Amino acid sequence: MFGSNGIGIRYSLQGARVQTQTKTHVLPCVAVGGGSAGCVMAARLSEISHWKILLIEAGGTPPPESYIPALNFLLFQGDADWKFRAAPQQGALLAYESMLPYPRGRGIGGSSTINSMIYVRGNRRDFDNWEAMGNPGWSFDHVHRYFLKLEGYRGAFSNHTGRHYGRDGPQALEGKRWSSPAAQAFLRAGEQLGYNIIDPNGPEQIGFSLIDLTGRDGMRWSAAEGYLRPALSKRPNLHVVMNAHVTKIHFNEDNRAVAVTYMQNDKEQRVAATREVVLSAGAIGSPHLLLLSGVGPAEHLTHHNIPVVRDLPGVGQNLQDHPAVAGLVWITNKDSSFSPLRLLNPVHLHRYLQDRQGPFTTPLGTEGNAWFPSETGDPDWPDIQLAFVSTTPAIDFGLTSRQGLGFRKEVYLDYFSEVFGQEGFTLAPFLARPRSRGSVTLASRHPMHMPHINLNFLSHPQDVIDLVKGIRYALEVGGTPAIQEHGSTFNKRLLRPCMAHGGHTQKYWECFVRHMATTSYHASGTCKMGPSHDSLSVVDHRLRVRGVAGLRVVDASIMPLIVSANTNAATLMIAERAADFIKQEWRSRRRRR
Ligand SMILES: Cc1cc2nc3c(=O)[nH]c(=O)nc-3n(C[C@H](O)[C@H](O)[C@H](O)COP(=O)(O)OP(=O)(O)OC[C@H]3O[C@@H](n4cnc5c(N)ncnc54)[C@H](O)[C@@H]3O)c2cc1C
Repeated sequence: MFGSNGIGIRYSLQGARVQTQTKTHVLPCVAVGGGSAGCVMAARLSEISHWKILLIEAGGTPPPESYIPALNFLLFQGDADWKFRAAPQQGALLAYESMLPYPRGRGIGGSSTINSMIYVRGNRRDFDNWEAMGNPGWSFDHVHRYFLKLEGYRGAFSNHTGRHYGRDGPQALEGKRWSSPAAQAFLRAGEQLGYNIIDPNGPEQIGFSLIDLTGRDGMRWSAAEGYLRPALSKRPNLHVVMNAHVTKIHFNEDNRAVAVTYMQNDKEQRVAATREVVLSAGAIGSPHLLLLSGVGPAEHLTHHNIPVVRDLPGVGQNLQDHPAVAGLVWITNKDSSFSPLRLLNPVHLHRYLQDRQGPFTTPLGTEGNAWFPSETGDPDWPDIQLAFVSTTPAIDFGLTSRQGLGFRKEVYLDYFSEVFGQEGFTLAPFLARPRSRGSVTLASRHPMHMPHINLNFLSHPQDVIDLVKGIRYALEVGGTPAIQEHGSTFNKRLLRPCMAHGGHTQKYWECFVRHMATTSYHASGTCKMGPSHDSLSVVDHRLRVRGVAGLRVVDASIMPLIVSANTNAATLMIAERAADFIKQEWRSRRRRR
């Protein structure tokens, strides 16, 4: 039924009932965006066989290489990436090109098709806090069952944490099939520093862990694989239109969303939605579409000559991501870490093709995470996540990594010059709970023009201080006997623009953070869920857009505060929860009639 790329890996939705364009122009529910959340929505809503669901996606089917975890770096800047750029900043991103690459997945599966496959739910306090911010029903105790519902965990269960995972859900998860000696040393380093080895999705988050992956049998398992493909293969009421860029949501005189238009093959198409439009276009796409459709800050819309349907000041505001410090690299003995050059070894390719084992099963170098107790608030709600990546940006002499990560050439060539081509690893402190907020606004009223993305990283001074704390944790880990066993040497070359502050002083590291902190690709928060008295709230606690009818936003953009972990798991949970909201509401309306 599905195509094959010749090495036995299914890669195409062709053959399933994907249409190049819809023949049906009136449907009860139209979902925009077939990414992590959109795939869940389409699959769950189509479980009700008499509801017709249309999913409209701007991109196409996932590229073949997206199925092989270690090839994820090839996806940046390719057809499956929107190729967004973030605007330059005064006090941050100083080591990067003036327009930083800001990848988001484009195509069926969305960002779950191009991401690093790390599965981690977040801290229970993240969700308890969402509820405390005025969003009833979003505490961890409420959302836990949706995590269990989505998870199809196939990794090894420890007696201690096994009961915390769902086993039968559509999102296949597995533990790592291969890890480098350096990753094992990372765990031992944690123990030597007095931390526990934790299950990343267990009851508590402080400690060191290897990652769990959104994968099955050593291959990527995106939301499209888990949710959309099986739903399409058995449900005639689910329709998907691909390569269809939605340009506008239309409202009637009562401010009800009644239709969307999309561009496909240079032709404009219009589809009417009799019940509801669900916007799952992601944390950049969803606010962008709302603004283009007249829902957003009135002044901004008027400035772009867009008629105001609803003045909602929060649309596009509250952009959050986890700034992550790049460039803390250690050189190791040969074969201790993960070199992309190793992928050229036919033995590894053979192992992968035969048994789905070996380094090809790991997204490039992504191996472990640690979370440290907060020093300022609840100690169990960490400020810092430390990612262990068993390679360095210098391993390929800049062949793909410099441009992929967006480093300015002169910074890259100077700072990494002594470690070019050498095996090693990176410790990257992420700011788990940033205080700075960015925005997504219109650059123009033309729907095909990219929006203006202002990350506004480090605009809150505490963010710099916290990231320096993260650097100190990284240096501590790097100095443990476990890490040193691998002949690890820190790249001691100073970052030239910060040299004036002396070597490794507090001021030097602050300068380093302002240069080297970059995106971790976790855009969220731009259609904030919040109570009516919150002037920036865009959706209510059932994800209905305020001040209009028949329109919901369901994706990473509704997070009022970013979770203190990678964002895909929480996004899938949000969509599972929203599908239940819609089912409950539609059914109760039907009963009332
Ligand atoms: C490079 C990268 C690495 C990441 N690594 C991880 C990781 O390892 N672990 C983790 O937990 N998280 C990771 N993330 C983040 C995670 O993948 C996202 O938080 C999550 O996928 C967001 O889901 P979403 O549904 O909100 O948006 P998306 O999955 O981005 O889906 C949005 C969809 O809407 C479509 N769309 C947008 N605009 C339109 C339009 N106008 N018309 C039609 N369709 C439209 C897009 O093409 C896309 O398919 C990563 C993200 C990236 C980009």
